[in-house]
Amino acid sequence: MQERFTRRHFLGTAVGAGLGLGLSAKGRAGEPRVSVCNPLRRTPLSLIIDDSCPVINKAYYWIKQRHDWRLKHEPNSPPDGWEVHYDKLDKMPNAIPAAFAAEWGEWCGEQGVRGKFSMVPFPAGVGRIDQGFPGFPEQELKDWLRVTKEIIWKNFDLTPEMLTHTRVVDLKTWKLTEQWEQGEWVDPPVDLLTEYITTAMQLLKNVGIACDGVTSPGAFGKRKEIAYARAVLDAALAVNNNPRPFYFLNMEMEKMPDVPLRHVEKAKGIAIASIIGCGGDWFGATGYDTSNPDLFIAADLQAGRLPAVLAKECPAILVGHWPCFYVNDRIGFKVLKEVKKRLDAYDPDKTKTIWMKNSEIGRYWMARELSDLSVNGAECRISTKFPTDNFTLAFRDRAAKRVQVNGTDLRLVQSQRDFRSGTFFVAGKETFAAFDLKAGDTTLLTT
Ligand SMILES: [Zn+2]
Repeated sequence: MQERFTRRHFLGTAVGAGLGLGLSAKGRAGEPRVSVCNPLRRTPLSLIIDDSCPVINKAYYWIKQRHDWRLKHEPNSPPDGWEVHYDKLDKMPNAIPAAFAAEWGEWCGEQGVRGKFSMVPFPAGVGRIDQGFPGFPEQELKDWLRVTKEIIWKNFDLTPEMLTHTRVVDLKTWKLTEQWEQGEWVDPPVDLLTEYITTAMQLLKNVGIACDGVTSPGAFGKRKEIAYARAVLDAALAVNNNPRPFYFLNMEMEKMPDVPLRHVEKAKGIAIASIIGCGGDWFGATGYDTSNPDLFIAADLQAGRLPAVLAKECPAILVGHWPCFYVNDRIGFKVLKEVKKRLDAYDPDKTKTIWMKNSEIGRYWMARELSDLSVNGAECRISTKFPTDNFTLAFRDRAAKRVQVNGTDLRLVQSQRDFRSGTFFVAGKETFAAFDLKAGDTTLLTT
């Protein structure tokens, strides 16, 4: 039963083809071959924070509610999931201060760390984010909302992690049921799913947060992943008119992670990206779980999961649970600082990696895989409904002296170090060009 809540440590469906190398177009013999590279020829890094809530420490309530539930329904079963830490509840605060969220968010901003940060809209059923948390100072929720919107949102997508992250809510009464979002709803009732997700997004919308996607609590939706992805896309369209959202459900612990795209309607510019974490939460989860920077990246900068994924130029998406960054003497925050230091040492001149939000990764992969490319002599045409920043092309067998995008010159730079959107550079027989790809038709001239 221990397995029950240890979420997405496997992939239920095959990931997309290959390593997401995406599009390429080959012209007639002797013409340059064009392909889409990673953004700015750098491998995406991203930090996913789960279980972050306004005000409360979700781990504290999860453990308490799970313990009560088990005694009521399965008194002879052993504790499962985080409930094994029931004996440490007196050491765990039931709230995490907004002041700490501000400090954490400012540190990430200074360090250039980007990713996704959950905002559970009705966390543990304690209070609705748009109505207040009975028993907690009103000002704390206000401060939490200010910090999340003004500091954290700059660098992180904000997503719901369903409604409570503990028990399922009955939307007619707003009472908690006996089912669990990450228990029974791993195999969710499809007819209720869209309304449930729409409600989660709407609660965030009510406090001024138009989310770019959702996070599954545990393996929520896993057994009906395709229907779940559809429901997220429908909810994103309905609440935020967002045709290109993402969801985070899966982890890939051994194979190389990809960015699968689902429910693609190419002509309409509609799709949803599945963002896949590449390793375990080695920050410490509740604050009392595995906490070890070496599992991400060892001091020698070679061992660990991140160097293996980065070596293959696949998106390296780290996953951590919010409580550990504060609880137990900020054990997870210390690990994050060490991991970031090592990642900086791994890529000292910032030529190999690029920190991105989850939504930016999703949209880049859509542009890469769902745009039409054609080459005719010196001209390369791109037609797309999937815009993205930092769109990066490689022209093999062509050392260009000049690159123009829709008639405007890209600036020539001398090396990868200076390679940005709006520039190009030449390495041997190859030319690399980067620019912000707009929806519609784009013409590149390489001469
Ligand atoms: Zn979670």
